[in-house]
Amino acid sequence: MKKGKNVQVRRRAPTLLRLPFCRKITTKITMLVMAVCIFVLALSFLGVIVIEALHARAELLSKQSALADTIAYNVAPAVIFDDPVAAGKTLASLQADTQINNAYLVTSDNRVFARYARKGLAEDPRFGPKADFRRAINEMRRESTAIWRWGRDLEVVRPVMGEGSEIGRIVVVSDVMIIYQKLRVILFGFMAIMAGAVLVAWFLASRMQHLVSAPLLHLSDVMRQVSRTKEYSLRAEVADNDEIGELVTGFNTMLEQVEARDTRLAAHREELEREVELRTLELRETNQKLHETVDELRLAKKSAEDASQAKSMFLANMSHEIRTPLNGILGMAELLFTADLPEKQHCFVRTLHGSAVSLLDIIDDILDSSKIEAGKLELESIPFDLHDLVGETMDTFALAAQRKGVGLLCDMEKGVPASVQGDAVRLRQVLVNLINNALKFTEKGEVRVSAGLAEEGEVDYLITLAVRDTGIGIPPDKLEYIFESFNQADGSTSRKYGGSGLGLTISRQLAHLMGGGLEVKSAVGVGSVFTFSVRLRKGGAAEARPAETGPVCRQWDLSGRRVLVVEDNPVNQKVALGMLNALGMSADLAVNGKEAMAALAKSGYDLVFMDCQMPVMDGYEATRLIREKEANGHEGLPARPGGKGRTAIVGITANAMKGEGAKLLACGMDDYLAKPYTLAQMRTMLSTWLAGEDDQEESLAVADGPSPEGAFAAGEQELDDVDRSALDEISRLRKGALSEVIETYLATSVTSIDTMRAALAANDGAGVAFTAHGLKSSSAMLGAHRLAAHCDELETLGKATALDDAFMALEALEQVYLRVRNTLEKEMLSDRENT
Ligand code: ADP
Repeated sequence: MKKGKNVQVRRRAPTLLRLPFCRKITTKITMLVMAVCIFVLALSFLGVIVIEALHARAELLSKQSALADTIAYNVAPAVIFDDPVAAGKTLASLQADTQINNAYLVTSDNRVFARYARKGLAEDPRFGPKADFRRAINEMRRESTAIWRWGRDLEVVRPVMGEGSEIGRIVVVSDVMIIYQKLRVILFGFMAIMAGAVLVAWFLASRMQHLVSAPLLHLSDVMRQVSRTKEYSLRAEVADNDEIGELVTGFNTMLEQVEARDTRLAAHREELEREVELRTLELRETNQKLHETVDELRLAKKSAEDASQAKSMFLANMSHEIRTPLNGILGMAELLFTADLPEKQHCFVRTLHGSAVSLLDIIDDILDSSKIEAGKLELESIPFDLHDLVGETMDTFALAAQRKGVGLLCDMEKGVPASVQGDAVRLRQVLVNLINNALKFTEKGEVRVSAGLAEEGEVDYLITLAVRDTGIGIPPDKLEYIFESFNQADGSTSRKYGGSGLGLTISRQLAHLMGGGLEVKSAVGVGSVFTFSVRLRKGGAAEARPAETGPVCRQWDLSGRRVLVVEDNPVNQKVALGMLNALGMSADLAVNGKEAMAALAKSGYDLVFMDCQMPVMDGYEATRLIREKEANGHEGLPARPGGKGRTAIVGITANAMKGEGAKLLACGMDDYLAKPYTLAQMRTMLSTWLAGEDDQEESLAVADGPSPEGAFAAGEQELDDVDRSALDEISRLRKGALSEVIETYLATSVTSIDTMRAALAANDGAGVAFTAHGLKSSSAMLGAHRLAAHCDELETLGKATALDDAFMALEALEQVYLRVRNTLEKEMLSDRENT
């Protein structure tokens, strides 16, 4: 706040003189004039009284002194002649003066010689009969000639002289009331005068005060008007050159200054307003430009989004387009594996197959990434067994880890639930990517997967999966960088290890979509730990597993183990090879018993998955021959590399319910799988017959388990045309596996139907039976149990050459087939959309 200047001002009048009870200046002036008038009159009166009193006193004193002197002279002879009577008479003459109350003549020997007292008045006690005259006279002497006793009397003492000496004294006591009376008269007169004077003063003051108050009132009026109207151009009139005139001039000057300031302020304000207007205009223009820019940006964003959408669509389409021929290449390469090729060409085919698989992986990654970016990726929520998922995923890497000499371990903490709901395929995808990276970047040591329960909510769990390795590690500045699309920690990574740099990006995005996250900690040369968390809903149809199961993972030693799949049906080939791949095994393929014999003779296998019905040589015969050769110690069958002396043969049948299992075991097979078999069952077979974990009875129990036979049994009564769980099983193998298998099925099954029709037309019962068996086999594998049952019937009729019945059966079969085809086509499309 600005401090006021120190201005020298005159002091204000004392409060009383400010007349606080009078609010009007006119009243104040009148009151002041009257007060002054009264004061002055009172002062003059006081003076007059004092003067008058002194004068009366002097007059009384001189009169009484003269009188006393005269009496003293007259009584002298009486004293001399000692004649008190004459003296009394002389004193009695004093009665002519009414002012004299008493008179005494005291002789020099202190004796009252004569006395006088005015009639009606008491004697002075000092001179009464018992009085002490001496003291009274002495007192008088001391007091000289006169004693004033105000309010009472005046005593005058005079000597009485005789013959040159004082012979006595005369005391005359006079009444002073006369003086008071005189003064009282003066007082009354004066009061009357003062009353008149005050009236006159009031009259004059009230008439004349306007001389002073009028300019002040005028000034006050102007001030009031200015303060009310804020009209600073008003001026007060200057009536005189006195102080009020100065005040008015000062006020006018102040108004002038205020007005000047106002004018300056108004000018300034106008200037400001102009400035503001200018700025507003500029702002409006900027705003307009901003809007335009925003519109442009919005357009640009829209077109960028469109472009991104188009890019995603393009990528998605392209990926599909590329995947189809690529699958063709893969299929062909897989077929070529079984062809009798020289070793060099075999090696080319392996390279071709490996490259096609890598390309497929990259395309899958690009497809996933573009889907997530376009917000098109929808997660499923289906019940699954978390323990199985982790176990199976680990299993798929067992062989790769073994080959690299890197330990692959799993810790499943206590309390991790088994039965959960979520997107198992995506969860597996992230886990696969992390374990894959860990193995890729670890040359020695171990890769450890730990699963834990971080949080349990009312409806869901927060599960953490940590993949820890002892690999090359990641520099601190690259820890976040590697999560960006197409980024790798080291430029040389892709040259040395391959990869597109998309895996972690997709994994983190998936983890976020699943309500969790993906973090990394790493030290160069020490290793890395990727911790992935995911929210999974509680419950689900997965078989309940006690929460305290503890670690369920194991290590397999499958190194160097060789597996042969003997299967003529392309659909079943794909499924079997796909499952083995998913379990970390690569397998060779033979399309009939004869080829199987040749393959076995050539390289020796630890485990053979043998289909039963095949052209050229079926599985039964091939098994019998193999066992025969083994029994004879035939050279064509090399001993199993790490085996128990003979090749393990697991039969694959679509006829398990017909007691075919026993037939298979009887012809020398060790075990069998009923179509449609599951990945878990395939894993059990591998672990039983290669890793030697479970005993045979147990694995048989699994293979004979309720699923396939139960499915067949149910198929006879009331079943969906296609059993979803069989399809789910295939779709879990890898992305796109299902659509590929269905595609193959649809292509081959149409041919089968045509072939059966042609065979019927040609009365070829065996041909009908053969083709029906093939279709039964692949249909069972896809869970089309009802169709498989029809095929089975047709197969039986064909074999019995009951061609009329077979014709009817084919009609019925075709109707079911159309429905199956319809369902499978839809499944294929939705699988393609998902991948
Ligand atoms: P890529 O297909 O190249 O493996 P990712 O997104 O999966 O793509 O990984 C990106 C990069 O992160 C890798 O190229 C590698 O440099 C680094 N990285 C990922 N995992 C590991 C790990 N376990 N150890 C060391 N580096 C890793």
